[in-house]
Amino acid sequence: MDYFPLFLDLRAQPCLLVGGGEVALRKAQLLLAAGGHLTVVAPALCEGLAALREQNRLVHRARRWQPDDLQGMRLAIAATDDTAINADVHHHCEAAGILVNVVDDPARCRFITPSIVDRSPLMIAISSGGNAPVLARLIRARIEAWLPHGYGALAQLAGRLRDRVKARFGHDDRARRRFWEQALDGPAAERALAGDVAGAEAALNATLADSDADTLARGAVYLVGAGPGNPDLLTFRALRLMQRADVVLYDNLVSPEIVDLVRRDAERLYVGKKASNHALPQEDINQLLVRLAREGKTVLRLKGGDPFIFGRGGEEIEELAAAGIEFQVVPGITSAAGASCYAGIPLTHRDYAQSVTFVTGHRRGEEIELDWPRLTSASETIVVYMGVAQAPRICAQLIAHGRAADTPAAIVEKATLPQQRTLVGTLATLPELLASSGVKPPALIIIGDVVRLAGKLGWRHC
Ligand code: SAH
Repeated sequence: MDYFPLFLDLRAQPCLLVGGGEVALRKAQLLLAAGGHLTVVAPALCEGLAALREQNRLVHRARRWQPDDLQGMRLAIAATDDTAINADVHHHCEAAGILVNVVDDPARCRFITPSIVDRSPLMIAISSGGNAPVLARLIRARIEAWLPHGYGALAQLAGRLRDRVKARFGHDDRARRRFWEQALDGPAAERALAGDVAGAEAALNATLADSDADTLARGAVYLVGAGPGNPDLLTFRALRLMQRADVVLYDNLVSPEIVDLVRRDAERLYVGKKASNHALPQEDINQLLVRLAREGKTVLRLKGGDPFIFGRGGEEIEELAAAGIEFQVVPGITSAAGASCYAGIPLTHRDYAQSVTFVTGHRRGEEIELDWPRLTSASETIVVYMGVAQAPRICAQLIAHGRAADTPAAIVEKATLPQQRTLVGTLATLPELLASSGVKPPALIIIGDVVRLAGKLGWRHC
């Protein structure tokens, strides 16, 4: 983090603006909008600043800047086109411990001014840390378009209800948060966004009177598929539930970028799970889910890919159902689908494959338990999960059961992530290819004629 984000309460605080041009005017407007008491020092003022002076909205010192101007100031902005003056303002502010910003000169800024989306009292600030202001503005434009203007009214409404909600739920923070989550995401909020603030307020007051802390404080488990690793491939539902969690249990297939998107205050529990290194046995995970939900927590169980594809999600749910705990399952993009699209290998194709089978290469005991004869049809694509360690055996068995040794086969390592690698060979050459290329999990093996299309249909930057 290059900068510490914060929002300053500038109401009635003395602020100094050095410079009288158009750039200074834009800063003056912002400082005034935040309620700052503004002094502008500059030999002359542009039309806009002069108009503000006429309206007595600022004090003008009509001369060059001098260090004494900083007397009693909280914050200063230098917006002149004279580098020496700007540097001097910066120097004296730093010496006096006054927050300073020199416009367009990040090296001389103790604070920077972000791009903002203003839905007061809701305020979104975006910064690229001075690296790419245009990018920050583009993002701002997207948020502007996406965020209904009614959110300002909704935030005001929430402000009005705050004390009553506090009184209703006392120190039960969890019940209070649940109330707000439901209130701000439900039909009343929609009414406020549509402009009917009075109707929304009445509805929220009614809900408040009816809601019961015990029901609100009941725990639940969300079993959520996080996709193959790239955060762009999360579902909207996954993202929403990630914002509601009190505690999240995740394993090594869930990328750090995705874990970062979980509500900041949520407790994070790594429950591991590499084929060779079970950080927490499945049975313990199942029991932990039950225990946390019984404590009244909203538990997010984040799983790589889809929770019901080689994810043991079924077992976790069985345990929850048996314990009578409320749960939801959210599908995710399974890694076979992610790898297929990002490596340009369609899993089915009119010319090459009419069916696809997902199998696991994970062993139970000595042998890999697969129905080999069923996997030998030339028109079938096979995707092997957890198959890297057992790849030589799998290829040998397929060949032994009659699948052609020259059947194309690919390995997709870290599919959908920036480090993705796709290696292409055949059933005969794959073991050697694996050994020589040092592939590490997670990786999938895709077998079948569709692999011929690898690369040709690969995902490209356009
Ligand atoms: N539920 C998951 C699969 C869990 S089994 C899903 O639907 O994808 C774990 C196996 O998934 C790994 O051994 C690997 O074969 C595969 N896998 C998961 N993420 C992957 C990725 N980003 N790239 C390649 N393979 C991946």
